Amino acid sequence: MTDCIFCKIIAGEIPSDRVHEDDLVVVFRDINPKARVHLLIVPRQHIASLEELGPEHDGLIGHMMRLLPKLAKQEGLETGFRTIINTGKGGGQEVFHLHVHLLGGEKLTGF
Ligand code: 5GP
Ligand code: ZN
Repeated sequence: MTDCIFCKIIAGEIPSDRVHEDDLVVVFRDINPKARVHLLIVPRQHIASLEELGPEHDGLIGHMMRLLPKLAKQEGLETGFRTIINTGKGGGQEVFHLHVHLLGGEKLTGF
């Protein structure tokens, strides 16, 4: 997707503070962090949202979920962390390239 900001970040066309990358995902720090640690776990493949997932993505999703606690440990989040996936405009999604927010490192309020 040429007009997708996360595709551009993954392609290296827009700079980001990457903390992890592998064959399936790129992980970078949110530009507007809502907590001391705020990472975005983003599949390399352009998938707009959870609503576009099919069974062919099961391996990717499993990989993303299992990666979360490893990233939290890497960031020193010993007491736990929060994950958020916003879906659609009604769910507060602003970037329509699937991503998981990983937040922690301070007392989290609200959702
Ligand atoms: P959403 O509301 O779609 O779940 O979250 C999108 C997130 O992407 C927001 O937290 C926003 O701060 C972050 N974001 C938007 N543009 C950029 C960018 O260019 N670089 C980085 N690192 N984060 C971005
Ligand atoms: Zn994209």
